[in-house]
Amino acid sequence: MSETTQPTVTEDTPTAYAFCAWHKEFAGGVRLIEVIEQGSGAGGTLYACTPCRTRYGLVPFADRPQP
Ligand SMILES: [Zn+2]
Repeated sequence: MSETTQPTVTEDTPTAYAFCAWHKEFAGGVRLIEVIEQGSGAGGTLYACTPCRTRYGLVPFADRPQP
């Protein structure tokens, strides 16, 4: 009951390395932007690097209010 309540850090792993779907190259520090869910077939995930998030005003999936 006496636990300190600190704001939850929502940052993903800062060293995440994945394919940036916006500039079409692998980059470090990417964040998950979009999750494509499909009943059948291949769904997908779209990641964006920091420069692309700034450039396109992308909001990371985890930072968005979920329904
Ligand atoms: Zn990028």
